[in-house]
Order: sequence, then structure tokens, then C-alpha cells
Amino acid sequence: MAYKELCAPKRTIMTPGPVEADPRVLRALSTPILGQFDPAFTEMMNETMDMLRGVFQTSNKWAFPIDGTSRSGLEAVLSSVIEKGDKVLIPIYGRFGYLLTEICERYGADIHIMECEWGDVFNPEDVIEQIKQVQPKIVAMVHGETSTGAIQPLKEIGHACRALDALFIVDAVATIGGTEVLTDEWCLDAVIGGTQKCLSVPSGMAPITFNDRVEAVINSRKKVEKGIATESDHAYERKHSPISSNYFDISQLMDYWSPRRLNHHTEATTMLYALREGVRLVLEEGLENRFKRHRLHEEALIAGIKAMGLELFVEGEKKLPVVTCIKVPEGIDADSVRSLMLSEFGVEIASSFGPLQGKIWRIGSMGYSCQKKNVLFVLAAFEAALIYHGAAIKAGDAIQTVLSFYKREG
Ligand SMILES: *Cc1c(COP(=O)(O)O)cnc(C)c1O
Repeated sequence: MAYKELCAPKRTIMTPGPVEADPRVLRALSTPILGQFDPAFTEMMNETMDMLRGVFQTSNKWAFPIDGTSRSGLEAVLSSVIEKGDKVLIPIYGRFGYLLTEICERYGADIHIMECEWGDVFNPEDVIEQIKQVQPKIVAMVHGETSTGAIQPLKEIGHACRALDALFIVDAVATIGGTEVLTDEWCLDAVIGGTQKCLSVPSGMAPITFNDRVEAVINSRKKVEKGIATESDHAYERKHSPISSNYFDISQLMDYWSPRRLNHHTEATTMLYALREGVRLVLEEGLENRFKRHRLHEEALIAGIKAMGLELFVEGEKKLPVVTCIKVPEGIDADSVRSLMLSEFGVEIASSFGPLQGKIWRIGSMGYSCQKKNVLFVLAAFEAALIYHGAAIKAGDAIQTVLSFYKREG
């Protein structure tokens, strides 16, 4: 059978990821291949590291991508740090908090969790109290919980972790490049970002950064290869379990992402072009401007949703600025609304997981997808689909409200 040439339909993607890639990132993806040790390429690696420090707002030496989707970044950091039996405290307020427990469990951590209702976040004082009780080696937490549309304040928890000598490892997959992530100021020891969310780069890499506290733990587990190790190396290794993953062994990755350039994996050079262009665009726009743009379109989206008479699932301080969750009105089939939007308008929004399945819609306003045209279009399609499904909404007000909002606010 002869297949036709690849032809993907044109979509307006307003989900919490993957979102539309910036056209300049797509152009970068078609750049010819370079060998991974070609100086022209290693120069790009260094430039990307440098720009990532800017995006993570850190002076950390280490900032580089893990090849794989965002969870590969989470797994690389956690697997490189956790030794069997290490206490890890994980405060959970949505699906991705559970993902942290799933990963930690596989590396033999002694997991302590705290939970709060989905849609809510923790009072930092409660988390700090629990850190004092449990005395964990690691506190792992999500910054922006895309499953519920809530954002956890991290500054107080970060400072407490530093004072109590726990490593603070943060999933900032959804927030990096879309809202403030102050790695150094908030005392975050390791931060994992995502590409297909607010960076507007396709899925397939996970930029991470970590400080010297994390580096020290990882280096203590460094394995000297068989054949060259001495008896004292062996004695050392008997005391410190080596990192059990080969692919995610950050001690080896550090040797690759540094002047030694020791071969580990073959770098995904094409994805690196994309990431380099993505972070370059973030810094070209400027972090402050970028965060402001995300807030502006969030506000427009909220104004439109409310004008229809719909209710938000999370509001105010706790609301994640880049994801807006809307309660599904009584008697409306949430998935049927979504599929009509996709099939007839080419607009994609998301549902949610677990206890929120069928209860909320999630609309992302991330990266390149976060623009006026997309906000107007998603609201128009959403309103039409809701009316089609017989939802009792105020028809016609949303777009007019948002048009005047943009006229006023830019
Ligand atoms: C999307 C997301 C992930 C998982 O990312 P993958 O790229 O699918 O591995 C993890 N954490 C958060 C908060 C996310 O939003």
C-alpha cells in the first residue's frame, strides 16, 4: 500500500501541552544535522546551557537538557539523588504530584506524602511543619499543577528546606517560561522544566538545572568504571550505591555537558536546535514581558469565560496563570463538547484526570499559543459548542467582552 505524504491538519492548540511550536522553532528543526562532537555543535550546547541559566534565573553551573519528555528530567534528577531507603517528602495536590511518588517508589525511596484537595494548594507552614517532623533528605514538589490549574508558592518552603538541610526538587514543567520561577531566590536545589508547554518547543527534551548541593550528592555516587577502579574506589562504592539508571546517570551526563565531553548517549542534535531557538526567543522577548503577556491573555480568557456565565474551578492567588480550568455545567457531556470543537473548528482544549475527569475543562494559554487570535478563537468555538450542546450560557457576550478588553488593555 502506498501512503500519502505526511499531512497534519492545522490546529489551534489551547491545551496545557503540547502547545503550538513557534514557527522559528519549527524552522530550527529543519537545520541540517551536525555530529555531536562537531565544535559547531558543542558551541550550541554551551550557548544553550548559558541561555537556560537565564530562563531558570540561576547562576548554577549546571543547566542542560535530558533527552526525553519532561518526566525524563524528573526521573534523571530523582534517580541520581535517591539512594534506597532515603526519606522523600512529597506534598501532592494533583496528578503530577503522584507522578513524583511513582518515580521515587521505583528507586526505593521511603516516601512520605501529604495531600490536599485537588484545586487547592498547601499552606507553606503546613509543609514546613511536616519537613520538621519527617526530616527527609528530599522534598519533591510540583510548582504548577496542570491537572488542576493551581500553583504552589515555593519561596518559604525553599528557604525552610535550606535551613533544615533537605534538598528541594521542583517540577516546574508547566511554569518555566510562562510565569516566574526563581531558582536561586527561592532556594530550589533542582528544577525540571518542560519544552512543549510555555517554551513552545516540541515534546522530547527536559531542561534541568541543579546546584552544588545536588551535585555533591550525585558525585558521591559516581561510579568508577570496571578495569580502572582501585581498591579504595571499590571501598567507596560499597558505602555509596551507584546510580541505578545508566541513561539517567547525571554524573555521566555532567561529563558529557562539560569540556571533557565524555561520550554518553548521542545527543538529539535536532531537538537541541529547537530548544536553543526556544530559549533564545524567551530571552529575546524578555522574561518580564513574557510573563506579562501570559497574564494579559489569561485575564482575557477569564473575562470571556465569566461573560458566558461559566464558573472557574480555581481562582485568585492559587490559580496557575497558564492554565484555566472551567467547571462543566450540570448535564453537559464534557468530552462531546471538546470533540465538536476539534472536529468542526480545529481547536483543541483538554479534559482532566482522576477525580476531575468529566468535571472540568482545561484551557492552556502557553507560549506561542498564548496570543489574542487564539484566545478569541477558542472562546468562539467553545461558546458555539456549548450552545450546540444545549448549555444554558449567556450567548454572544464573551467575544464582545474580550474584544473590548483587548481594546482597553492592548
Ligand atoms: C506535562 C507535565 C509533566 C509531564 O510531562 P511529559 O513531557 O509528558 O513527560 C510533568 N509535570 C507537569 C507539571 C506537567 O504539566
